[in-house]
Amino acid sequence: MRGRCTVAELPESRHAAKVLATIFDIQRFSLHDGPGIRTTLFFKGCTLACIWCQNPESLAFRPELTYYAERCIGTGACVEVCPQGAISTVRAARVDWALCTNCGLCADVCDSEALRLTGRTWDVDTLLVECLRDAAFYRSSGGGVTLSGGEAVMQHRFLAAFLPHLKAVGVHVLLQTAGEYPWHALALLQPWLDHVYYDLKCGLSQTHLALTGRDGQRILDNLGRLVASGTPLTVRMPVVPGHNTAPEEIAAIAEHLHKCGLTDIVLLRYNALWEAKLPRLAHPPAAQELAHDAALFSAVGEAFARHGIRARAAEEEHDNDKGGR
Ligand code: SF4
Ligand code: SF4
Repeated sequence: MRGRCTVAELPESRHAAKVLATIFDIQRFSLHDGPGIRTTLFFKGCTLACIWCQNPESLAFRPELTYYAERCIGTGACVEVCPQGAISTVRAARVDWALCTNCGLCADVCDSEALRLTGRTWDVDTLLVECLRDAAFYRSSGGGVTLSGGEAVMQHRFLAAFLPHLKAVGVHVLLQTAGEYPWHALALLQPWLDHVYYDLKCGLSQTHLALTGRDGQRILDNLGRLVASGTPLTVRMPVVPGHNTAPEEIAAIAEHLHKCGLTDIVLLRYNALWEAKLPRLAHPPAAQELAHDAALFSAVGEAFARHGIRARAAEEEHDNDKGGR
């Protein structure tokens, strides 16, 4: 990093202040989302619906109410303010999700944060201030800001206004993406990206369609374009036992990598912690009841090696080891 690090010294940001992003989490001091100490921004909304998604609360683009029953202290303040009559006095079944409109009024009066609106809008200036709070740590550790989600690229108009200001003060920017969007969205952001973590989910299109809701062809097309553009990137794959680990899946991914002139892949261990989030959600996806399988994980790496692709585990470096977003 170099240069100044305060928004007051970035006058152009005023012009972009009306462009808004929806972000559902900001993790400061992250050590697993790229090099050094980082601030990771989790943008809300995704174009895929992976059945193992680590952040199921990220899938919808709009802010959504979530309910943490274990935090409820039973004041009943929420019952009074709900205009839909969607909240009951029964703690274990507090919200009638069919009636809830995600207005957030109940979350505003919930002091214990049992009711929360997941997803908050940010303007360019406010998010810059938030990110630059840790500029000294980025500088001393070789860190920066990571764009994650959900699918951050779907908020490309905001990012096209936001990223130039981060880069103006020398902040390293890393994008984590799944690649399912029109190419022009990523092309717009390329000038400000220092590195891209590009996640491939499955090798075969029918598997991709069944597990993510899309056949994956556009993801492969965009990967080819990204490689051709020269943007530094790391291809990653979550190893989801029994879903994307068959020999023909590995062979297909290896073939795609070779077509792009790539010879490396980072493997992400499966992590089942996301299932703890399901009771909090209005529309929870199905639990998968899978677990990381060390032997299978090694076998996937060996299978890639037989196809001429060097595979390494995420925890061997600074890549996210949470099993895919
Ligand atoms: S795992 Fe990533 S790409 Fe898949 S649905 Fe979740 S956020 Fe989207
Ligand atoms: S977010 Fe839903 S439950 Fe809460 S006040 Fe609004 S409608 Fe009622």
